[in-house]
Amino acid sequence: MPGTHPAAIAGAELTAAASLFDCRDCGACCASFRVSFYWAEADALGLPEALVEQLSPWYACLAGTNAASPRCQALQGEVGHCVTCAVYLQRPSPCRELQPGDAQCSKARLAWRLPALVVPSTEKVPGLAAATLPMPAHPARRDRR
Ligand code: SF4
Ligand code: SF4
Repeated sequence: MPGTHPAAIAGAELTAAASLFDCRDCGACCASFRVSFYWAEADALGLPEALVEQLSPWYACLAGTNAASPRCQALQGEVGHCVTCAVYLQRPSPCRELQPGDAQCSKARLAWRLPALVVPSTEKVPGLAAATLPMPAHPARRDRR
């Protein structure tokens, strides 16, 4: 639905977008925000030390994201074309929560001059709610700059 800002889209439709869009064609949100999380997540998930920057006694962030032009050091490939996450199974909570089509996704894609996602109406796609993800979504708690 071109023209509809993703922030205004209902939760069910965001899930629909996540089920249809392959983030491996994008990666914008991995190169747009500081990705911070409670420091203990890094140990619990087994994130390599080199990928973790301590921000405070309580918070850490992914290396490369605490910069004027952030880009997670785990992101491989070219944003907007073909990307992969080198630590996908160990990615922290922000990376698991951000959904294709949500407000931060939209902001990241806009910053990279990528077109907004076209989120289909669930009414027009029978059975969409039960669809499975082609690839799980990306980061979530992104710090706004
Ligand atoms: S969540 Fe959005 S910005 Fe992030 S990789 Fe997927 S489509 Fe791109
Ligand atoms: S999904 Fe992977 S590449 Fe993207 S920000 Fe998280 S750890 Fe980095």
